[in-house]
Amino acid sequence: MIYTARRLPRHRGPAAWADILGPGPAFPRIDSNIAADVAIVGAGFAGLSATRRVLQIWPQARVVVLEAWRVADGAAGRNSGFMIDLPHDLASEDYAGAGDDQRLTRLNRQAIAFAGAAAADYGIAPDYFDPAGKVNGAATEAGDGHNRSYSRHLGNLGEPSEWLDAQAMTELTGSRHYLSGLYTPGTVMLQPAGYIRGLAAGLAVQADIFEHSPVLNFRRVGGDWMLRTPKGQVTANRVILGVNGHLESFGVAKGRLVQLFLFASMSEELSPEARTALGGAPRWGVTPSDPMGTTVRRIDAGQGGHRIVTRNCAVVRPGLQPTDRDMVRAARSHARAFARRFPQLTGMRQAQVWGGHLCLSLNGVAHSREIEEGVFSACVQNGLGTTRGTLTGIAAADRCCGQVSEITSYFDAESDLKPLPPKPFSTFGANAYLRWKEWRAGVE
Ligand SMILES: Cc1cc2nc3c(=O)[nH]c(=O)nc-3n(C[C@H](O)[C@H](O)[C@H](O)COP(=O)(O)OP(=O)(O)OC[C@H]3O[C@@H](n4cnc5c(N)ncnc54)[C@H](O)[C@@H]3O)c2cc1C
Repeated sequence: MIYTARRLPRHRGPAAWADILGPGPAFPRIDSNIAADVAIVGAGFAGLSATRRVLQIWPQARVVVLEAWRVADGAAGRNSGFMIDLPHDLASEDYAGAGDDQRLTRLNRQAIAFAGAAAADYGIAPDYFDPAGKVNGAATEAGDGHNRSYSRHLGNLGEPSEWLDAQAMTELTGSRHYLSGLYTPGTVMLQPAGYIRGLAAGLAVQADIFEHSPVLNFRRVGGDWMLRTPKGQVTANRVILGVNGHLESFGVAKGRLVQLFLFASMSEELSPEARTALGGAPRWGVTPSDPMGTTVRRIDAGQGGHRIVTRNCAVVRPGLQPTDRDMVRAARSHARAFARRFPQLTGMRQAQVWGGHLCLSLNGVAHSREIEEGVFSACVQNGLGTTRGTLTGIAAADRCCGQVSEITSYFDAESDLKPLPPKPFSTFGANAYLRWKEWRAGVE
């Protein structure tokens, strides 16, 4: 069997979280033939977590990581940086999950603890891994209702939350946009590129990491797998795929993955005058009470500068690349959401606008299994890729090293990914549905 990458990742706009930090650690391009015990494809949350976990279980293993771009250039440097512990079902009205939310929360916390231990071990700046919690903001009566229902759901799970009224929201954010907010303490606010770069730099002491080294194909050769890149190859006994939606590019789970693109903008650096006009706290994160609304973050000097990050707009692109029109629509939508929230910053430019890839399944399950002898997946993270990517990475490493854990058992028990309706109807229908959901989310 040969697995050929029909598509390689391509990005629109900058990986702004990486850009604002300046140059990071650089890793070479593979240009020779290497033998390894484990080859890991993809250096995002899943691939790097898998690397750490393999080395915890099997410290002498020779582990090679192959990344198509630079570390933190992909979705890892393009997300909003909420590493959330609680149920976060984007398909629901209020994030409550349909499954065993208590168990999932416990596992999410294992992932966060794993990431926290990595941050401590590798000396990652505390500002890049900030256990500050987050707020679910509500801007309308409907949003307020979603928040109340979510808060009841959390109460039933025994999870603490704190209700913020309109004034408290203004004191936090400087914005008068919100009617209320629901604070939950367990989310870690990442500088996602800072965290991922720190993880890669720490792992590089034990593992060989290669950038600009896309895997073009891999196939069985005797008892091993041979992975081919443009300038070199790796022969390894075991392979872990941490490529998220690009699993489908290798021909796996075809017709079962929703290739979703999300978009975000980052403001130019806020001058001292702009910061005074804005008011509020220097660092906070607000997710929308309606999952299809706008996520906003304020970051400060410790995370790459005083800036505001705005995320909204979603589109399904099975070709794995957003269009020019998607970018223009997103930039306009971000500008509107920003102006509505921060009239005191009128005229402020969005310095960076970008798109990023995340991958869902229709029934919200991950792809975490042994695909064929010696080939393991850590893919399809659904709406919570920082946490779920970490979890699927751990699970793949456990499986690869023959370990059974609560995490592998969780993914083993998930049902198969539900097939999508035939194209082009599925794409057209999904995008029409997303537009309707965005319209319904309104100013949320
Ligand atoms: C705008 C935006 C906001 C988001 N906000 C959040 C948030 O706040 N919280 C959250 O939890 N999630 C968020 N996400 C989702 C999150 O970023 C992803 O789910 C997460 O990055 C998935 O991690 P991963 O390691 O599975 O995949 P990725 O981070 O996509 O990493 C996969 C890596 O594989 C590499 N790759 C692919 N094909 C190959 C190949 N053939 N050879 C070599 N390498 C290859 C890619 O280059 C990439 O670096 C957001 C996403 C976007 C776009």
